[in-house]
Amino acid sequence: MNVIFLGPPGAGKGTHAQKISQEFSIPQISTGDILRQAIKDGTEVGLKAKEYMDAGKLVPDSVVIAIAEQRLKADDCKKGYILDGFPRTVAQAEALDKIADIDFVVDIDVDDEVIVKRLSGRRVCPDCQTVYHVDFEGYSPICAKCGGNVIQRKDDNEDTIRERLSVYAQQTAPLIDYYKKAGKLIVVDGAKPVSEVFADVKKAFEA
Ligand code: ADP
Ligand code: ADP
Ligand code: ZN
Repeated sequence: MNVIFLGPPGAGKGTHAQKISQEFSIPQISTGDILRQAIKDGTEVGLKAKEYMDAGKLVPDSVVIAIAEQRLKADDCKKGYILDGFPRTVAQAEALDKIADIDFVVDIDVDDEVIVKRLSGRRVCPDCQTVYHVDFEGYSPICAKCGGNVIQRKDDNEDTIRERLSVYAQQTAPLIDYYKKAGKLIVVDGAKPVSEVFADVKKAFEA
């Protein structure tokens, strides 16, 4: 099963990709996570990507497409994968079409105001990438999975969130039509609680 999770920043792509990854034993491929790791490692890609990411802009297609192409060649992708945050432009989707056979595209649909609230309270574990929210029951600044100290991402501030939403509307939202035309689009209501969204996503895979 090769799946894409589409949707604005904060829609819940990472949250649900993590859960699907566990349940179906296929890797979650987050270009955002790969880029953040590259920044941490101080690689050439990281140096190139940092200013775009801090400003809430998209990293250039050539950089991101090369990352995705390389990652999808790995052995663990042979039985399927979940793309989380890639593609984000029509050029990326066209490049992906040349190297992959996508079964489903899940569009997690959520309004802008809900997103600002979600992203302002988002916390992530920098060690294992688990996603949390400060309003969730039992939230703790220590990662429940690996014991790491969870952090707030630099781009999860209101100004950068609004910029990312505008970038999404202009550059990524056209992919909804792109995949609708290809007959691959499944839309789920991302405003519901995580357990309900997750159930809807799984139901969509069975259909
Ligand atoms: P979110 O989950 O909030 O949408 P991501 O972790 O997916 O954020 O992405 C963080 C940042 O990394 C983006 O704002 C962008 O700068 C960069 N990025 C990630 N994926 C891509 C992509 N496919 N194309 C261009 N830039 C990307
Ligand atoms: P994305 O990968 O699309 O940027 P995340 O999965 O990181 O989104 O989710 C953004 C924030 O919203 C996180 O703090 C996450 O815990 C929270 N969240 C995700 N889905 C839901 C939901 N259905 N209801 C409430 N909060 C959610
Ligand atoms: Zn952790």
